[in-house]
Amino acid sequence: MRKIIIAIDGYSACGKSTTALEVARVLNYRYIDSGAMYRAVTLYFLDKHVALTNPREVSRALQEIKVSFVVNSKGISEVFLNGINVEKEIRKMRISENVSQVSTIREVRLAMVEQQRRMGKDCGVVMDGRDIGTVVFPQAELKIFLTADMLVRAFRRQKELLQHDDLVDIDTIIENLQQRDSIDSNRAESPLRKADDAIGIDTTHITIDEQVDEVVRLALAKMILQPKPKA
Ligand code: C5P
Repeated sequence: MRKIIIAIDGYSACGKSTTALEVARVLNYRYIDSGAMYRAVTLYFLDKHVALTNPREVSRALQEIKVSFVVNSKGISEVFLNGINVEKEIRKMRISENVSQVSTIREVRLAMVEQQRRMGKDCGVVMDGRDIGTVVFPQAELKIFLTADMLVRAFRRQKELLQHDDLVDIDTIIENLQQRDSIDSNRAESPLRKADDAIGIDTTHITIDEQVDEVVRLALAKMILQPKPKA
């Protein structure tokens, strides 16, 4: 069967990563969490006090950063920053509170998109993010756009944070999600939007299993029906 690219975009905490990871496992595809890459860059910028408004400082810092993924013993892909596992650190609120601002920076986006395209060049990849179907892989064979009601998203995120021992009240989470939605959707560089050919799935009232089944079903249809490109 032909290997395809599956792009999953949408707002924060709509179940993108959980769905993408499981779809990749079922199809034996590579999973790439593009948000983790922006989070790792944010961690580095915060720790090194990089001035976000200084393009030269940003470019220099980007040259010092190597973001990579390593699959752990449970088969889960974890993000490494310059060889150090930062999977836990990048999920904390201090990163969530700054990542959207960092993600507006043109130099940051150019560097991340280039790396994401390299990772997906052999296809057989599921990548989730905000601009995967519109900018990173506009040619992706399957594009999904996930949405969900704000309260459902906030409770999902709170549960996820608790798993990292980060207890955050629901109002703070809602505020953060709203702020990130706004910055992500209104930025000049590749704003978050549904690609014209993306399939929308509202995850408010469906389970993760149902989300995964739907995406796998759509992917299999593409893999079987999609004609091979001419050599
Ligand atoms: O997916 P996650 O919530 O971890 O992403 C964190 C942030 O990274 C998003 O709020 C957004 O600002 C940024 N991001 C982006 N483009 C992507 C993935 C994430 O700008 N492809």
